[in-house]
Amino acid sequence: MLVSVVVPCYNEEAVIRLYYEEMNKVTELLTDYDFELIFVNDGSKDGTLGILKEFASKDNRVKFISFSRNFGKESAMYAGLKNSNGDYVVLMDADLQDPPKTLIEMLRIATEEGYDSVATRRMTRKGEPPIRSFFARQFYKIMNKISKTDIVDGARDYRLMSRNFVDSLLRMSEYSRFSKGLFGWVGFKTKWIDYENVERAAGETKWSFWKLLLYSIEGIVAFSTLPLSISVFFGIIFAFLSFIGLVFVVIRAAIFGDPVAGWPSMISIILLIGGVQLICIGILGIYLSKVYLEVKKRPIFICSDSNIKDIKPVSYTHLRAHETVL
Ligand code: UDP
Ligand code: MG
Repeated sequence: MLVSVVVPCYNEEAVIRLYYEEMNKVTELLTDYDFELIFVNDGSKDGTLGILKEFASKDNRVKFISFSRNFGKESAMYAGLKNSNGDYVVLMDADLQDPPKTLIEMLRIATEEGYDSVATRRMTRKGEPPIRSFFARQFYKIMNKISKTDIVDGARDYRLMSRNFVDSLLRMSEYSRFSKGLFGWVGFKTKWIDYENVERAAGETKWSFWKLLLYSIEGIVAFSTLPLSISVFFGIIFAFLSFIGLVFVVIRAAIFGDPVAGWPSMISIILLIGGVQLICIGILGIYLSKVYLEVKKRPIFICSDSNIKDIKPVSYTHLRAHETVL
């Protein structure tokens, strides 16, 4: 049985050798399985690609896909999954935060207990800045309230998937990919393994707070349309309030006459409503921009170098055409 290991790498020269060693220890133990190690170099600016080529020259299980620039982890995962051949595919970070030895247990669960997917989640956020943990928790709370798709707090992308699961994921060829949501969306029987957060073995995190914030907006927009309904809700509330206000003003003018007063309160109300309108237009704009990105059908990644001969997909449009044939 073939197992594909997909590893997205972005500026990981400090840790990639260490990872490869650890992974080799694990594959040596799993003698019942064949492995292919697919490293996706996501436009690294350091020596990562050189090291990957060195692995590939010595070890024919190693495949690499190198991007023409940094496309982001989501694109890297997509490229790896798309070009995997395994009966099982596992997604793993290069920084050893996803301990390779857990794979032994994951494979056992998938094959013996018949799960389509074995996912990992960390129970603690040890070693993370408290402010980041706080926002992350809030994000998952809100997300699960406003979206029908189950998005698990603390879930990592470290996940073993059956061929069927991977093919289902790949059928979703959307450009704005939010894997944490896509995993839940496709369904299937998933077993969760809990473990303590492990800190990065070397190198540093590629996610700034700002990048994480943008990523969370991506997640909300991809998996919920509730913000759009909120604008409608605001609209109705304000229309209702202004109607009551109108009735009040008319009656008061009829009884007490109409001395000119209340200019400051009027300005405040105009500013408030103006603000709310801008927020609503903004929300609409965010969704519209996502639609804009999707209809352009740009490729999810561009490969500039690889030791895989017929690298897939050629382009995003090609993928869509194929999908309709299906
Ligand atoms: N990564 C990537 N492209 C990016 C950012 C990250 O391929 O633009 C990879 C990175 O090399 C690592 C994994 O995604 O293997 C997780 O990144 P990182 O460890 O920086 O994130 P964290 O664990 O801090 O959330
Ligand atoms: Mg990490």
